[in-house]
Amino acid sequence: MDVLSSTAIKVSNPINGTILYEIDDPSQEQIKAIYDRARAAQAKIQAMSIEQRIAEVDKIRDYVIQYESMILDAIIAETGKARTDAFAAEVFEVTDVIDVYKKLAPKTLKDRKVPQPIFLIEKKSRQFIEPLGTVLVITPWNFPFYQVIVPSLMSFLAGNATIVKPSEVTPLKPLWDHFFAHSGFMKDAIQVVTGGKETGANLIAMRPDKVHFTGSVGTGRKLMEACAKLLIPIDLELGGKDPAIIFDDVDIDRTANGIMWGAFTNAGQNCTGIERLYVQEGIYDQFVPYLVERTKRLRTSHPGRDTSSAEDCDVGAVTAPFQVRIIEEHIEDALAKGAKLLCGGIQEKGSHHIPPTIFENCDHTMKIASEETFGPTLAIMKFKTEEEVIRLANDSPYGLSASVWSKDVERGTRVARALKCGNVCVNNHMMNEANPYLPFGGVKDSGIGRFKGEDGLLAFCNLKSVLIDKQGKLIEPQWYPYTNSKYKLLSAVMHAWFGKSRNYVKFVKNVLPLDSIGNKEKFK
Ligand code: NAD
Repeated sequence: MDVLSSTAIKVSNPINGTILYEIDDPSQEQIKAIYDRARAAQAKIQAMSIEQRIAEVDKIRDYVIQYESMILDAIIAETGKARTDAFAAEVFEVTDVIDVYKKLAPKTLKDRKVPQPIFLIEKKSRQFIEPLGTVLVITPWNFPFYQVIVPSLMSFLAGNATIVKPSEVTPLKPLWDHFFAHSGFMKDAIQVVTGGKETGANLIAMRPDKVHFTGSVGTGRKLMEACAKLLIPIDLELGGKDPAIIFDDVDIDRTANGIMWGAFTNAGQNCTGIERLYVQEGIYDQFVPYLVERTKRLRTSHPGRDTSSAEDCDVGAVTAPFQVRIIEEHIEDALAKGAKLLCGGIQEKGSHHIPPTIFENCDHTMKIASEETFGPTLAIMKFKTEEEVIRLANDSPYGLSASVWSKDVERGTRVARALKCGNVCVNNHMMNEANPYLPFGGVKDSGIGRFKGEDGLLAFCNLKSVLIDKQGKLIEPQWYPYTNSKYKLLSAVMHAWFGKSRNYVKFVKNVLPLDSIGNKEKFK
């Protein structure tokens, strides 16, 4: 692995504020060299069979299995996550994705035979599934290991060279250095380039063949503009304001546990974390106090945590200082607009250790119920009918993910279909993301494109359409010369074949002379 860095950005531990190390932005010359190496490596990757590429990816899996504990320590030091959050969503998920892609990639990346209409019966149509070239992956700070490894390995399996620019908040530089030194992974096939926003912009300016971006809506817009100027295709995995809908027939215990986890896992720093909760009026007075009582039992991160223990806390630290400010602003706005605080809230201004915070009496004028908070907060609202809650859930510029909870799975599925978003779970939350066969992505402001599954792998490919013909007839009926007799035959064939009722006799009578023209007629 080749980690390049050169303008000091301090990387700190959010649990205790210690500065861990500094990174610099690479120079233009260094960026050019990175692309040169990527393009040289890409030629080699393209020549490899899918089995050889899978053997390389197995090295990532072996590395993860061997160094699980060290990887978790590195992630926790830069993010402040609870150990189990880091394990489940980053380390475990990477091994699971690799396992699935070993099965999915050979099938998905095979050339395809494509059917053709009767008029092209003598020809063959194919789709060649080819690499794009060099793919640039730009990632956020909430899953710094997973977000780097997973798109990179998918891009690699598809035959591309990959350059990754991780978030400057959590670059994991020492970990990537160790990975490239010890995993034995193919040189220059994946290069991690640490640096800030400017590095991201400079990398785009070097014209990668595709950009795969995960991050905020604001940055996504800027990147799309930059890519539009250079006509670089870009996939955007952006933010969300996920609703969960609770109907009054649910099992309160399971549902409360599921909601609690969906809202507070990873300290709410999930693009698909539950931020809005709609509870039907018939169960509201039982459900909400139960949820709040359970939530108060969760252990919140604190500076003296023993991060080597899986029981050090349930709700980890908030990673980025600017995110602490956004969460505080949303909590203050909710209080000022009359929301009722049921638990949590700001304990110490500026602290990265924010307890799980629940509000009721919320409405969509409050930031906590309408803008992405990206922290351990939950805004509860009461509803009466299915129609009303569908309208409320869809009343958002975001459309990433959602969940519907009801013993009536038919109703759950009906509501899932009515929600304007890219992903939904019925009686669970976010677990669609645990299935790498399922594509993931958003609608509205939540993004463009699909990641994972077959669709996600094909997003890293050039789907080349190929028609193969013989050196047969001298001319095709629709080639020059254009003549009245050919035109009449072509028109008769269209009417005979595509008319309301198919006329086989008329078809044969006109298609045969049309066909034979090709053998007789030359373009003069
Ligand atoms: P961000 O948009 O601030 O930064 C993401 C990355 O973009 C970073 O690496 C940053 O350096 C880079 N960047 C910023 N400006 C740039 C520019 N002008 N040119 C090139 N690169 C630039 O996002 P963040 O704060 O790191 O992450 C949090 C956001 O990510 C949240 O909105 C969250 O919902 C979203 N997210 C989405 C998904 C998803 O799959 N949909 C997953 C995780 C996080």
